[in-house]
Amino acid sequence: MAPALTIRRDEARRYVLQAKLQDKKVGLVPTMGALHQGHLSLVKASCFDCDYTVVSIFVNPTQFGPGEDYEAYPRDLERDIQQLQDVGVDLVFAPDTGEIYHERHSTTINPPSVAEPLEGVHRPHHFRGVATVVLKLFNIVPADVAFFGQKDFQQTRVIEAMVADLDLPMSIQVCPVIRESDGLALSSRNAYLTDCERTQAVALSQALTTAVKMSRGEQNDAAAICAAMTAQLHQAGIIRIDYVAIVDPVHLRPVEIASPGSMALIAAHVGATRLIDNARLG
Ligand code: AMP
Repeated sequence: MAPALTIRRDEARRYVLQAKLQDKKVGLVPTMGALHQGHLSLVKASCFDCDYTVVSIFVNPTQFGPGEDYEAYPRDLERDIQQLQDVGVDLVFAPDTGEIYHERHSTTINPPSVAEPLEGVHRPHHFRGVATVVLKLFNIVPADVAFFGQKDFQQTRVIEAMVADLDLPMSIQVCPVIRESDGLALSSRNAYLTDCERTQAVALSQALTTAVKMSRGEQNDAAAICAAMTAQLHQAGIIRIDYVAIVDPVHLRPVEIASPGSMALIAAHVGATRLIDNARLG
């Protein structure tokens, strides 16, 4: 059955409150659209776990920095809805910018400290925008569970910390990274890659596989693992690297000794496209 579609906050809220009145467990999957199997894996998890699933589609301007790809970001609402139709989604909330940010909107969320390293260094206002829009979505769609992908690992930690710090009455479920058969993590931004860049891009997941293998073997020196990952990226012609890091999974602080549970993370530019990926060690 086709999901209900609304672009209005009050209507979305009404639908969800109605479902809650019927004692339904409500799941929310926040997305920026241009949906792929990674997004759909979260949607399927919600449909499995919850009685009523809401997918939001909103390209949030406040999480893009100056010179980033807000304007170019792929948008195809019709195709997105078509994909959601087959999965069993109940409601698609696809507001425009004015519906989320009224003219005099000025309140923002100061993100938790876990937002500071890694992405926080390279995209200084990103997590303020993310935390603000996600809290707004949580208020519009008062879900019991919200689903996020490990693909954006730091984002999951920011949202989990915000939910804990602000006593939000909901839980966060983190779903595994969905990859192409050669290992490249699915991303809406992969659409920007030329054929040649697409070939290069697989080096990110290969470098993470190297990190996992090294940490499973004799090597637990984080600096040595990072050096091997960086060399692998360089070998593929990926020179502009924002970070290659091994961190603890809670605070995302660099560790000297990699241990089971440590996270390896990469952000790098492949041509004009900035890609991120990560893997858990051990
Ligand atoms: P986005 O539309 O990029 O904001 O992503 C919406 C949600 O989908 C976020 O929670 C992402 O982490 C998740 N997501 C994006 N790519 C993947 C992937 N390859 N595997 C699993 N989840 C993903």
